Amino acid sequence: MAYDPNNIFAKILRGEADAHVVLDEEHCLGFMDLMPQSPGHTLIIPREPAESIFDLSTEALGQLITTTQRVARAVKAAFKPPGMMIVQLNGADAGQTVFHIHFHVIPRYEGEGLTLHARSVAAPAQLREHAARIKAELESAP
Ligand code: 5GP
Repeated sequence: MAYDPNNIFAKILRGEADAHVVLDEEHCLGFMDLMPQSPGHTLIIPREPAESIFDLSTEALGQLITTTQRVARAVKAAFKPPGMMIVQLNGADAGQTVFHIHFHVIPRYEGEGLTLHARSVAAPAQLREHAARIKAELESAP
């Protein structure tokens, strides 16, 4: 399948769609998942257009995973979950629903399951508050 430049993450990258951004840098963008599977669920995407891990350049993948680690550390500091899931889906058959490669950073809390994937839109005020907490941690990180 050819990369669709009108997918929602491409629109977020171009500023044509809104997102609660936590990190905006040269190679990657980090923002809150609109339908979080747990409080603090964050997405990290490369600026390079690529559908999946198979299409992304090795250089961009390196930048993406490094940025994912940085954002995951900030989410960990902000939400203090006992566990953290970091996942990346390739292809509709693997559950991918947005065809611009991304890593999910999903905090896991003791005794709390995940809500269903990409189902319920969170309240904007909550996403704003969560983004602010993660941004503050990123800004104070060495
Ligand atoms: P995938 O299923 O492709 O691995 O993950 C796509 C993720 O994007 C889902 O977790 C879904 O909740 C999230 N998502 C879908 N549409 C939007 C949107 O418009 N804005 C944001 N911030 N997240 C979205």
